[in-house]
Amino acid sequence: MSDDATPRTDGTEGEAATGRHAHGTDGGREGLLPDGGRRTVELPDTIELPRLLDFYELQTAEHTRIHEFYDRLREGVLSTTRCADCDALHYPPRVVCPECTGEDLEYVELPDTGTLYAFSALRGGAPMGMADEAPFTVGVVDLDGVDVRLSARIDGATVEDLDIGDPVELAVVDVDGPADHERVFYRFEPAGATGGEPTHGDRPAEHAEE
Ligand SMILES: [Zn+2]
Repeated sequence: MSDDATPRTDGTEGEAATGRHAHGTDGGREGLLPDGGRRTVELPDTIELPRLLDFYELQTAEHTRIHEFYDRLREGVLSTTRCADCDALHYPPRVVCPECTGEDLEYVELPDTGTLYAFSALRGGAPMGMADEAPFTVGVVDLDGVDVRLSARIDGATVEDLDIGDPVELAVVDVDGPADHERVFYRFEPAGATGGEPTHGDRPAEHAEE
């Protein structure tokens, strides 16, 4: 028994000692070149964003059943679904009514103006692809005239510029990224501060009630 243990202990120690000795004498330690120098590894200047970690979903009929929302947004119109059975207005748009499980949904136009319910600055931990833009402003917006409250980036203003209740308006942005089709998304900006993306700012705000 002690005979079994002793050689094993000796052997282990012997191997470890031999290993250390070998590394110390022949320069074979991993990462070292024969002349003793270190290898250099290179990183790309840019890294393509993995699509699955992309904040924005794919927006065509092939990829999402709410593609109509994006089709309309591409035209500068914010919209959502309303249930033809129970009249519930959803946001974000749905393919099944969360109130009555009905599937007879219709798209209705939403107002492109609202007021700031809350806002904050995102200073760290931005979604992948947005880190370089931090700090930026995010907010919760109550759309005018309808019972829809949504969150969005607030462009064109820092938190120091804003107050709760400030009027804001829709700003549709193009998304440049790793997708094989044009993508868009919605943001808001202080009302009247635009000059940017075309929206439907002249329209009345009661479309969803039609
Ligand atoms: Zn319903």
